[in-house]
This record gives sequence, C-alpha cells and structure tokens, in this order.
Amino acid sequence: MLYLDNSATTPILPEVREQMFTYLENEYGNPSGKYYKLATDSKQAVKKAREHICKLFNSTENEIVFTSGSTESNNMIIKGVADYYAKKGKHIITSKAEHVSVLDVCIFLEKKGFEITYLDVDSYGRVNPNDLELAIRDDTILISIIWANNETGSLNDISTLSTIAQQKNVLFHTDATQAVGKIEINWAKIPGVGFLSASAHKVFGPKGIGISIIREDEYKQSIPFTPLIHGGGQENNMRSGTYAVHNIVGFGEAAKLANERLIQNSEQMKLLESSLTQILKNKFNDHISFNSDDKKKIPGVVNVRFIGVNNEILLKKLAPIIAASSGSACSSSKPSHVLQAMGFSLKEVRESIRFSLSPYQSLKEMKVFEQL
Ligand code: PLP
Repeated sequence: MLYLDNSATTPILPEVREQMFTYLENEYGNPSGKYYKLATDSKQAVKKAREHICKLFNSTENEIVFTSGSTESNNMIIKGVADYYAKKGKHIITSKAEHVSVLDVCIFLEKKGFEITYLDVDSYGRVNPNDLELAIRDDTILISIIWANNETGSLNDISTLSTIAQQKNVLFHTDATQAVGKIEINWAKIPGVGFLSASAHKVFGPKGIGISIIREDEYKQSIPFTPLIHGGGQENNMRSGTYAVHNIVGFGEAAKLANERLIQNSEQMKLLESSLTQILKNKFNDHISFNSDDKKKIPGVVNVRFIGVNNEILLKKLAPIIAASSGSACSSSKPSHVLQAMGFSLKEVRESIRFSLSPYQSLKEMKVFEQL
C-alpha cells in the first residue's frame, strides 16, 4: 500500500524513534525536578530538543512554548489574545480557508461577543493582502492566517500580510503546521508575525507534541496573552503541565533532520509531485482537473478532481493500494470548506481528492498509478 496522506500525518523516522525510546525506558525523570540525575538529564534533553527546534525556525529558545500540537497552539493563541486584549477591542480577522482548529475557535469567540471577519480567498485558497488591509479596524486585536493550506498546499504571502499587520499595530498569528519542513521558515525575517503554530507529527515526529512560537521584544518580553492551561507554571507560565519528555525529544530529532534535509527533501517532493501529476494527466486526460496551484505552494500536495466520480467511493476503492483523503483529516466527515471557499460547487468538492507525498518515497512508487 502506498501511503499518500502525509498531510494528515507522517510516519516516525527511525532516528526519531530511537531517541524517544531512551526517554520511554530508563530516563523517566521529571525535568522540573532538581538535584538528582534523572531529573537533570531530562531537563538537559528538553533543552537540547528546544535548541534543535530553534535552529529549524531561527527563533530564540525562550520563544518556544511546547504544547500538545497545533490544535492546542491555535487555541492557546487565539483564545489567549482574545481574553487578554478584550478591553482594547473585540475584532479578529481570519480567512475562510483556515484549519478547523482556527475556525472553530473563532466561532466559539463569536458566541462570547467577539466579531470575526472571515476573509475571502482566491481560487487557490490564498488571501489577498489588499483585502486584509481593508478589513483592519481600530478595534482589531488579532489576525490569524494559515501559512500553507492543508488541503491544497497553497502558500499565503505571510511576509506581506504580517507587515501590513505590523504597520497597523495589530498582532499577527500564522498556523504554519503544513509549511514546516517543506519551505524555509525564518522567524527572524518575519518580525510582523507575533505567534506561530507547528506540530511534530507533520514532520516525521511523534503525535501529541507541538509548539507555539511567541515573539520576544528587545527586552526579552514575550507578547502577553492569557494562558489556556494553568497549573505548575512550566514554559514561563505560558503552558503548564509536566513535560512529555519522550515526545519533546522526538520533536527535537525530527526538527534537526528536517532542518538538515530541508533542501533535499523539498527537491525530492517536487520531483515526486511532477511525476505524479504527469502520470495522472497521461492516464486520465480530460477527466481530471487540478485544484492546486503549481507555483506558490509547498511541494508534495496534489489536490485533484476526478470529474464525475464521487471521492468517497473512489477513496474506498483505492484504499487497498493507495491511502489518500478527500481533505483535512480533522474535518473528514464534512465536504471541504476550503474548496468551497475557493469557489467550488458541492459536486466539485465531492469529486476532489488530496494526495500528499513524503520525501522518503521514490519515483518508482508513483508508478502504482499507472496500474489503476
Ligand atoms: N493546522 C493545520 C494546518 C493542520 O494541517 C493540522 C493537522 O491536520 C492542525 C492545525 C492540527 O494539528 P494537530 O494534529 O497537531 O493538533
């Protein structure tokens, strides 16, 4: 079976697994403990993992806050900013093509009296910077825009969008979950971004661990927000809870490898993607159309419409040989809101499939499509 649902989750790399085992077997100490070696070893392991993650993003160590994944990071930041700045304003801007862990938080906040502007997106799912500029108001406290779309792979111009936010003095968050390991994310070069969410299991690390990156100013002060989880005060009081050391170590190793292999991995995914699209074109000709842009996107995501064919029926038929999906795993029971926001009819949405590739796959493996 060829696994082409890498946007949903990725397998854990052997190097990552090996590092994690140590902290599942012998090194079980709590990094918040003191004096004895079991605790200080774990503390050291968390520090090393944090360093690897910082290198991948070019952030400082204090700016990394461990969470359970991007869903929590998105919740932490949007709810936390909304609560902290509610007296300043109650307007938040996002887009219609966000992940549900952003959209559902916004819907929750609407019920609490916040006003949300959901920006339209273009036919590839991207936000127009002019639309953002026009939507900003005096009472806007936060803008949250996805970096790389999880269904189409389309990239938003985060540098331009966050600069607009910065010029208007509005906090900016980006959900970078799908961009990590596929394009360079240089935190130092996007000063307008105040908050970023990412997750280990999209970059060949374990599930249940992610980060929020929270911008520090020149006085080493983090942007304030209300914590989502209160308790023991870990992560500078920004996210309490005992450190999941094995997961953090796994994320650290996955980040190290993603950083070292960024160029070679993204080149391999480009190669695989162009081979896959060519095979699909040759095989299905006028019976398919591509929903992904081939330029401003992350490599490795092919969203394609099989005209006149129901995607659920096709996916079930393919399942013994090819594992793919109709879009986001987190909202798989509903027709894609992303494709609908891009202007697709419900019928067109129900004919669309996402194939998402891994850099650890080969051109030979793509040939399975020729046998369909
Ligand atoms: N944001 C995006 C863009 C995603 O693709 C996902 C995962 O599918 C998430 C957030 C949620 O991440 P996690 O599974 O780490 O909670």
